[in-house]
Amino acid sequence: MATTTGGKLVYRLEEGNASMSQLLGGKGAGVSEMARIGIPVPPGFVITTEACLKYYERGRKFPAGLWDTIVQSMHHLEAESGKEFGGKGNPLIISVRSGAPISMPGMMDTVLNLGTNDVTVLGMAKLMGNERPALDAYRRFIQGFANIVLGIEKDKFESLLDQAKEKRSLKFDYELQPDALRELIGNFQDVVKEIAGHPVPQDPWDQLRDAIQAVFSSWNNPRATTYRQHYGISHDMGTACVVMGMVFGNLGPDSGTGVMFTRNPATGEKALYGDFLVNAQGEDVVAGIRNTQSILSLQQDSPDLYRQLEEKARSLEGHYREVQDIEFTMESGKLFILQTRTAKRTAASAVKIAVDLVREGVITREEGIGRVVPDEIAQVLLPRFDVEAKAKALKDGKRLAQGLGASPGAATGVAAMDPNTAVSIAELGKKVILVRPETSPDDVHGIIKAQGVLTSRGGMTSHAAVVTRGLGKPCVVGCEELHVDLEARTATANGTTIKEGDVISVDGATGEVFVGSVATFSPNPAELTELNTLLGWADEVRTLKVWANADTPEQAKEARAYGAEGIGLCRTEHMFFAEERLPHIQRLLTVGTEASRLLRNAEQLTATLEKAPATELERLNALLSETNANLASSEAVKAFYEELTKLEAFQAEDFYGILLAMEGLPVVIRLLDAPLHEFLPRYVDLVKEVAVLEATGASGDELEGKKRIRDVVEELIEINPMMGHRGCRVGVTMPEIYEMQVRAIVSAAAQLTKEGHAVHPEIMIPVVSHVNELHFLHDRLEKVAESTRVLFNVDLSHKFGTMIEVPRAALTASEIASVAQFFSFGSNDLTQMTFAYSRDDAEVKFLREYVERGVLPVDPFTTLDVKGVGRLMRIAVEEGRTANPELEIGICGEHGGDPKSIAFCHSLGLNYVSASPFRVPVARLAAAQSTLGQLKLAE
Ligand code: ADP
Ligand code: MG
Ligand code: MG
Repeated sequence: MATTTGGKLVYRLEEGNASMSQLLGGKGAGVSEMARIGIPVPPGFVITTEACLKYYERGRKFPAGLWDTIVQSMHHLEAESGKEFGGKGNPLIISVRSGAPISMPGMMDTVLNLGTNDVTVLGMAKLMGNERPALDAYRRFIQGFANIVLGIEKDKFESLLDQAKEKRSLKFDYELQPDALRELIGNFQDVVKEIAGHPVPQDPWDQLRDAIQAVFSSWNNPRATTYRQHYGISHDMGTACVVMGMVFGNLGPDSGTGVMFTRNPATGEKALYGDFLVNAQGEDVVAGIRNTQSILSLQQDSPDLYRQLEEKARSLEGHYREVQDIEFTMESGKLFILQTRTAKRTAASAVKIAVDLVREGVITREEGIGRVVPDEIAQVLLPRFDVEAKAKALKDGKRLAQGLGASPGAATGVAAMDPNTAVSIAELGKKVILVRPETSPDDVHGIIKAQGVLTSRGGMTSHAAVVTRGLGKPCVVGCEELHVDLEARTATANGTTIKEGDVISVDGATGEVFVGSVATFSPNPAELTELNTLLGWADEVRTLKVWANADTPEQAKEARAYGAEGIGLCRTEHMFFAEERLPHIQRLLTVGTEASRLLRNAEQLTATLEKAPATELERLNALLSETNANLASSEAVKAFYEELTKLEAFQAEDFYGILLAMEGLPVVIRLLDAPLHEFLPRYVDLVKEVAVLEATGASGDELEGKKRIRDVVEELIEINPMMGHRGCRVGVTMPEIYEMQVRAIVSAAAQLTKEGHAVHPEIMIPVVSHVNELHFLHDRLEKVAESTRVLFNVDLSHKFGTMIEVPRAALTASEIASVAQFFSFGSNDLTQMTFAYSRDDAEVKFLREYVERGVLPVDPFTTLDVKGVGRLMRIAVEEGRTANPELEIGICGEHGGDPKSIAFCHSLGLNYVSASPFRVPVARLAAAQSTLGQLKLAE
């Protein structure tokens, strides 16, 4: 562990302040600040995190001088409070509290009522004017000390407590009378003696030393360690230890304890929110033993207390200029604040609170923009459970299991135990939840058709988690209490079994799983007034534009509603998968090889002829007419053109729709990218079908047809299709396909222009690695574009540009920028090729482990790898802009919706990021935070 510079190891509360949480822990800094500004807190002192680190360095021993300083501080505390530690008449009773620099709620330990023993309890009773609360505090102390310092399970004491109440037919702890409490204390000590070999010490100084050591040790208890691992918090900080006088909330009806938020953490509403428990100590509120009453109800029941709370809440909120989560205790009518910290809140409430605080003049607009975590905005827009429907489901005991909320949003549907079943249920028009032990790339088609995903295994970076987050679909993972039986097609948890076909509901924000349906609703983005206000402020600040990836007019409209300022990626391959289109592209590909061989021959011959010496002309001309005759009579060529014409009509319709939906804004259309075999049946299936036809003696035609397809597909098989014949490589070898797409784009745009719509198509070439690919395509495609435009006789311009997704393209950006008018980083492929990871393989085989074991700091497919991939991007931006100052540069990989990656894109000076429609609001806020320097760059 790191050692910090030596210094004071103990601070009196008056010596600390809010800025010292690294040294005093969040709790210590908070109580110090409150003491400083005159909020009533019990007197005390803080032992620093540095002391804790030194304690570990010395092999769990106090560093030299620490104990003496603590003793001195205790004497100071005695003087301050006028009480004596271990004293008979007026004993000082304290709490010894843990508190790390970063809030880790409930993960570490605190010992209350320390200083009670057989003697001091008598003095306490006299002071309190009542024996019961003194004995109650003593009994609590033994229980707490035994548990936290001696590691004895709580259950042992809880069952003795229950027996004591049962024996006397009592319901509540505070009903136990002194005799019963004395008996209980004796029994508690017997248990401790039996298990630990000695009772809880009587000497308060021994109690104190042991408790401080236990607090230090709780920094490394398994709960805290796991928590830090999960949230990526450093293990090197240590915890501070706050020692302070006890205030007693258990002295009677004008005493009590509670927790309050200065605004509603669920809705953001400006009203106190929380729970109060009369005649109780702090821990009882969370323990849920007795019914608490809401803070708001105090307005009627204890108006005086309510007024005091309201006043303290507002002054703390005003002081911190942020919503607070406050622990308090009332001792015989006097209010003490024991803790204050920034309140954790839902995304929706974070947005409302930020906007309200700006409007109230508490914070500036810029601060308001910085108060909301961009990723959380997506949650505000997602479907969620209707609050009442969920409450009813809980009440009816419909909660099946609890997992990790991996991708927020709520969904209800029929459980399907494999992706194919999910697809067939979805095709019947029913909603599906895919339930699996875990998922892999083989499940993706099912995930796409499902409303949500539930897996029993896997963590926040599991395949299911990553894929669903990308898709914006609800997902619960790591639901370990759920046993998914793929044979029996059931899932069982906590004694309840659901069968495939049963309806279940999942909440990907909380990780809850319910049996049956729970009503959900989707917020309408237009109605989210506060969110739109915040995003409006963000739009005024940011310099980076936000575009969206959308393939259809519907998606484009959705993206626009979310505030997209253009389409950064419109993929064309999906357009070919539609049922009525697939046969055409299949036939095109089946004849494509043969047709393009003939077409290329003719082209080559024409080119040779142009440069040929006179002596050769006659021979070459004869050859050309023969070739042309072959072309004219070729069935393959005929079919090739027939299908191109049909597909062009479909494509023109697609482009018309999307360009219209984005009227006035740029639309980047990527020409065909996918490896060709993705459009064809699988080879193994065809081999089987041929075998079946042969065995059943099917007709010659049918058999021959099948065989032909089989042979074509066999020819198209590639060892590594992602690096094979795809993208511009198909464009170069079969230029007619790209030419057809360009004709469709330009004719749709021209038609729209004629109809009076302003449209801005941008034609994008994928998988370029060498400038010559671009030269070749640019020459051919611009000719087609121009002739199409002339045909429509309209004024229309478009841009011609390329993806930068192959490292070589980034490294030769200045050459590429001499042809391209725009670059768009295809950061998924660029990451794959820079790391030499095949994403689908990496994600299932090793990437998760890499991240868990710290081999990689983050999943580079989620957050841009700045050092490697980012360096290539920087080269491309700098060299590209030098060669072509007008160059427009954006990013269209999934990173375009990731806040940290957006901060990096901003720093590179990109013109825009392009994200999935539902991530557009996230990107708008992240872009503004980048401009304001509020967002940390990806590392
Ligand atoms: P945690 O971090 O788990 O909340 P705390 O140190 O805040 O642990 O204490 C646990 C409970 O004991 C809280 O309800 C707190 O308000 C209460 N508590 C802590 N110190 C005192 C004290 N000096 N007097 C009365 N109650 C206290
Ligand atoms: Mg607390
Ligand atoms: Mg790509």
